[in-house]
Amino acid sequence: MGEVRVRIAPSPSGNLHVGTARTALFNYLFAKKTGGKFILRVEDTDKERSSEAYIKNIFDSLKAMGLNWDEGPDVGGPYAPYTQSEKFDVYQKYAKELMDKGFAYECYCTQDELEEEKQTCINEKRAHIYSGRCRDLSEEDKAKFKREGRKPAIRFKMPSKTMKFHDIIKGDLEFDTSLMGDFVIMKSNGTPTYNFAVVIDDMQMAMTHIIRGEDHISNTPKQIAIYEALGAEVPQFGHLGMILAPDRSKLSKRHGATAVSEFVEKGY
Ligand code: GLU
Repeated sequence: MGEVRVRIAPSPSGNLHVGTARTALFNYLFAKKTGGKFILRVEDTDKERSSEAYIKNIFDSLKAMGLNWDEGPDVGGPYAPYTQSEKFDVYQKYAKELMDKGFAYECYCTQDELEEEKQTCINEKRAHIYSGRCRDLSEEDKAKFKREGRKPAIRFKMPSKTMKFHDIIKGDLEFDTSLMGDFVIMKSNGTPTYNFAVVIDDMQMAMTHIIRGEDHISNTPKQIAIYEALGAEVPQFGHLGMILAPDRSKLSKRHGATAVSEFVEKGY
């Protein structure tokens, strides 16, 4: 195996959570053990929820724990930029490539139309999966929608199959991807979604292992499908258990302090 490259990729929509710090710790230790690299990437595609103050809190908290990174937004590195909002053009380029190769398509559905589809599914007691009705639009259909002022999102054509992968922590996993439907990779405002941006970055930044919380397991088949469509090497995945509150629910503010900085302030 070549050099191990792992990362922590927080979204700056809050202070560094102890759960993210724990994930960072496992990645850091794995990098140190294998003589690899530990990388910090800021996943700030959601501009409304992201802030500079949270970015600073995340950097300071990781440093307070001694989890220093080899590459990242502040220290740079061979795969800069390490901040997603600085590379929207890159995601656009790959989305276009997927469309050109027939793996993705423009979806002109409005929020109201999608809501209606969802309601129909609920009424008919079926799982809500996008119908795929924009998959085969003609050029005329598209031109008509454009004249109506509609802006397209881009959806990935999710293949229907049994997807198997070996999780280095959980073991062999299997998913029925026909239950996932064609998902949006670029919103109509030109912003990439998490599942898309994360693959482009992990691919470009040559990550070898994706070690993260098990709340992301259900995203993994979608991400693997994108790697496969791009003809890229699929990294190894490992999903860690989550830190839970004493009542076994997800640890949140109602259980007390959840931010690393709160513990630092308390003198830990
Ligand atoms: N930005 C994502 C999060 O904070 C990263 C998940 C991942 O590691 O892929 O949950």
